[in-house]
Amino acid sequence: PIRVRIAPSPTGDPHVGTAYIGLINYLYARQRDGKFVLRIEDTDRTRFVATSEQEIFNSLRWLGLTWDEGPDLGGPYGPYRQSERTEIYREHVELLLANGTAYRAFETPEELESLRQRQIAAKLPPRYDGGHRELSQLQIDAYLAEGRPFVVRMKVPAGQTTFRDELRGDITFDHSNVDDQVLMKSDGFPTYHLANVVDDHLMRITDVIRAEEWISSTPKHVLLYKALGWQIPRFWHMPLLRNLDKSKISKRKNPVSLIYFRQAGILPEAMINFLGLMGGGMPAPSADAATPAPSPQTKATTKPSETDIFTLPDMVARFDVKNIRLGGPVFDLTKLKWLNGEYLRALTPEAFYKALRETILSDAYLQQIAPLIQTRIETLGEFGNLTHFLFADDIMPTAEVFVPKKRTPEETLTFAAEQLTVLEATDWTHEALEPALKQLGEAQQWSVKENFMLLRAILTGSTMSPPLLESMIVFGKSRTLDRVRRFLE
Ligand code: ATP
Ligand code: GLU
Repeated sequence: PIRVRIAPSPTGDPHVGTAYIGLINYLYARQRDGKFVLRIEDTDRTRFVATSEQEIFNSLRWLGLTWDEGPDLGGPYGPYRQSERTEIYREHVELLLANGTAYRAFETPEELESLRQRQIAAKLPPRYDGGHRELSQLQIDAYLAEGRPFVVRMKVPAGQTTFRDELRGDITFDHSNVDDQVLMKSDGFPTYHLANVVDDHLMRITDVIRAEEWISSTPKHVLLYKALGWQIPRFWHMPLLRNLDKSKISKRKNPVSLIYFRQAGILPEAMINFLGLMGGGMPAPSADAATPAPSPQTKATTKPSETDIFTLPDMVARFDVKNIRLGGPVFDLTKLKWLNGEYLRALTPEAFYKALRETILSDAYLQQIAPLIQTRIETLGEFGNLTHFLFADDIMPTAEVFVPKKRTPEETLTFAAEQLTVLEATDWTHEALEPALKQLGEAQQWSVKENFMLLRAILTGSTMSPPLLESMIVFGKSRTLDRVRRFLE
């Protein structure tokens, strides 16, 4: 039986890349009577965000991408959260140590850093030099007796690894380019590579369908499968979502949070349809089915047409992996907006009203907004003047530029860039935001007041608005970051 999975890491807002890869996995499973597994890869405790897992669940359900086994549903091969499987990884590390395909390395972080510096100075690619590959048992025992912390590394043999990518054919990596990867960190937590392979095997995954950026990890995974004597799954690496200029879409530059699209009033049907256009797995429009265009999706303009419109059940019926094109699909927000308009117009008046009430005019949202304006208006009619920034179009930039009198545009942009970095690293609460923003002002020796005013202008397009922090909180992290980002464009 076919078993596929997505394995998101709960490190922040749910990523549109997760939904895109989730969709392909979902379709692949549904078309083959297979199982679609959701696994949470939460072993990187430094990037862990507590609310993230629930947001991943909510976003995938919003899109209709339902899974068969997962942390919330359970299933025969659980637990489905890696932090609950540390004992399993430890056992497998013991196996690898015992059969000589892995080894303990005791270098301190300082020693590794100085190695890295030496390599950089010598213009060599920084990598582990295999220093502790061949420690004697005596030496190992002595270090262990001392209680010296260690990591476990994979002993990558000389030679090459070739694996088959179902979309690309054979791919070969020379081992001189494969580092002796850390499999288990000194805190006893596994790294992505180890946990991913152990879980894919134990969860009986037959097909690993993931983004292209993992191709370079695959030889490491293949070596691990071999070291453990396990059957290697099929690998499918989907092309990355790209901007019109071919750069990969990423959270530094683009709105990539599913929460953002939802809050901005994109319907789930439009979003999932749009994601279905990425990668080209749907049959070409019948008109040119005989002579398929080489790769229409890589063209700068993607002209919308009726044949671009399909639902999730349509995709289950007609999607075909054979149609997947490797040319980077363009994540073109103009097209998403166009599609969304089509879906909005197709709604019954009742459904349209319901959509408005559930997203931008929900009771919950109005309840958050009301306290921000109650003390600031003289008639209820002024509600619109004070809050229009919360409802204004989010998808296409309106380039509302504000330059404070005492700063040049360059200084203003520098401010915004730093602001973005600070905001990205900040919890979205009053208690976290306030000191973070104040600190930035102090670091730049600009008045806190002016910084707040400038950020307010970027966010609301005006210097008259409800209080900044409360406005940011109501507006939400992803939309606030997007406003700052657009200001930088
Ligand atoms: P970013 O590049 O946006 O900073 P990231 O790769 O650091 O993102 P993750 O949260 O790790 O962000 O990404 C979530 C998932 O989305 C991963 O599985 C990743 O492979 C996938 N992903 C990230 N960017 C893209 C993209 N441009 N196209 C397709 N999938 C992507
Ligand atoms: N945890 C990885 C991610 O964030 C999983 C990648 C994979 O599918 O192997 O996407």
